[in-house]
Amino acid sequence: MPEITMKNITKRFGKVTACEDIDLTIKEGEYVTVLGPSGCGKTTLVKILSGIWEPTDGDCFIDGKKVTGIPTFERDLGYIFQNIALFPHMTVWQNTSYAPIVKDRGQEVIESTTTENLELVNLLQRKGFKPFELSGGEQQKAGIARALCSGSKLLILDEPLSALDARVRLDLRYDIKRLVKSKGLTAIHVTHDQEEAMSISDRIVLMRAGRIVEVNTPENLYNNPKNLFTANFIGEASFIEGRIVENDDEGNCCTMKARNGHKLKIKNDRCMMKGAGVVIAVRPENLFISREAEKNSIPGVIEEKIFMGSFMRYRIMMATDDLVQVEIAEAVDKTFNIGDNVNVIFRSEKLLVYPRPKEGLQEVLSLE
Ligand code: ATP
Repeated sequence: MPEITMKNITKRFGKVTACEDIDLTIKEGEYVTVLGPSGCGKTTLVKILSGIWEPTDGDCFIDGKKVTGIPTFERDLGYIFQNIALFPHMTVWQNTSYAPIVKDRGQEVIESTTTENLELVNLLQRKGFKPFELSGGEQQKAGIARALCSGSKLLILDEPLSALDARVRLDLRYDIKRLVKSKGLTAIHVTHDQEEAMSISDRIVLMRAGRIVEVNTPENLYNNPKNLFTANFIGEASFIEGRIVENDDEGNCCTMKARNGHKLKIKNDRCMMKGAGVVIAVRPENLFISREAEKNSIPGVIEEKIFMGSFMRYRIMMATDDLVQVEIAEAVDKTFNIGDNVNVIFRSEKLLVYPRPKEGLQEVLSLE
């Protein structure tokens, strides 16, 4: 179960800086996902760790040993990528047993590890099939079994599920996590799918434009994001700009004035001092709507109504000129309709507050 450390990793391709100043430690046995928008440097980071590319600056350590300059095959890691390259002329069994055969592990070990790993991915029944006889999901499972068979304790998964259809992707993500945990491996999994990252990670490394924005557990990234980019990228959020106009003595309650004079009370430890320009982020499930004005509410008009199965999603243009998303459980939905005048009710303890960014809100939320 190796521990990984990346120190000051920078990678440049000519004028393009793919990764910059990355410092990251992954503990033994952790399942970590690297998440971020397209082109933010996720693949570059894991290719550097696996030795496919050398960094322009900085070093990687696996179990305390500096691996910079050491070729991939000497780093003892399993690498699974999007379009798994199985040997097309070999059967599932031959593909899976490839690593222990090359490592000359002996017939008994080759038999037992190949059987064990094919059983783990539920493919033992198909051991005689060639890749073209398997579905996409089965091919990916065979690739996973092959990587597990290498015996490496470090697994790197680069978008392992993105070529698969939604249902297979969903099942396979839990299978992979279960395998990694049951075998006590350390795993680094690259994805641009925040739901995938949320559902399988011990911690998520969120990247943007070559840099790490935040590293934390899925719960913390969702409930207590440290910055606006995280609040926007992890889950959904609506944003309201304004200024703090009142504070209480204890500092855990303040009032924000949004555009057009509408006020909102904030009651949590994120409160800021009077005069501060702020942006509030709020999750759709923390908002309610009502026909009557209520405490801590802002009037608005429903612009869109979307049926989402267990809940209804409303997009509401508020009198502050901010568009907010509200999710109401189907069971309690009072069938509001497009064009209805409503009031959006805010829970003061659920409002995330950030200093208003100098460069502008849209710039900070942008994926580039
Ligand atoms: P995606 O989710 O789209 O796969 P990513 O987050 O994995 O993206 P990378 O593939 O690491 O991003 O690329 C980061 C940046 O480095 C991009 O701007 C990309 O164009 C650039 N880049 C990556 N590989 C090379 C290369 N071999 N030569 C030149 N530029 C490259």
